[in-house]
Amino acid sequence: MRTVYVNGDYLPETEAKISIFDRGFLMADGVYEVTSVLGGKLIDFPGHLKRLERSLDELDMVKPAAFDDLLDIHRDLVRMNDIHDGLVYLQVTRGSDGDRDFAFPDPKTTAPTLVLFTQSKPGMANAPASKVGVKVISIEDIRWGRRDIKTVQLLYPSMGKMMAKKAGCDDAWLVEDGKVTEGTSNNAYIIKNGRIITRALSNDILHGITRAAVLRCAQEAQMEIEERAFTIEEAQGADEAFFTSASAFVMPVVEIDGVSLNNGVPGPIVQRLREIYLEESLKTAI
Ligand code: PMP
Repeated sequence: MRTVYVNGDYLPETEAKISIFDRGFLMADGVYEVTSVLGGKLIDFPGHLKRLERSLDELDMVKPAAFDDLLDIHRDLVRMNDIHDGLVYLQVTRGSDGDRDFAFPDPKTTAPTLVLFTQSKPGMANAPASKVGVKVISIEDIRWGRRDIKTVQLLYPSMGKMMAKKAGCDDAWLVEDGKVTEGTSNNAYIIKNGRIITRALSNDILHGITRAAVLRCAQEAQMEIEERAFTIEEAQGADEAFFTSASAFVMPVVEIDGVSLNNGVPGPIVQRLREIYLEESLKTAI
């Protein structure tokens, strides 16, 4: 049984409890982070904590703990649960003031709720999907306008994954005003004539920590990067495509709305990027 963390305590998962009045539960009034673990070490951890702070600031939520304490909790859980490869999930909500009210409770009297747990994924860096690539469909992006904040409002992304599954695919790319914003839980990219094309940062997408690291790697490898939006048609005519996230790293996309890319197999640039990213991120793992 897993050991999880809830508001200062390490507990068996079946004994961990939060209030039914918690605003995360009632109003999706909470933010989260997912950090991957490879070889027992945290990948891109400072980036995840920095984004967590930004999400909290944007929502006028207080920080539940200091950076060092959060790092310690992550490490404790990795150790206690014997995680070699996997994920650490962290969620902060605005807590519970013992009732349901749209107005935010006073942070001086209502403490945030802090929950962390691990997910074990042995061999995550060699996931079978990364060898064969994934298929995506496109769906309309009907999410709210602050996708730069990593909130726990994940119903539409869940619905998108189900739509993809129903269509015999793995994931969905979201389209707004004719252009791809991002994937349901990842950032989207295409490659044409050696150039990596991905939407620029704005409130329209989550500022992926893996995105930042992968673009840094690409730059160091002298690859050309173009930060701009692209259509599904352009993506279907691209040489290669991929997405990035903390749990999937660099994932080749080999089919978009039924159209195969690179004859339906992961292309050379995507494979190289994945290798470089994994190599580089292991160097800074803590
Ligand atoms: N976009 C969305 C909508 C996501 O949910 C995620 C993963 N949390 C990402 C992008 C990728 O972000 P990261 O690389 O930080 O995991």
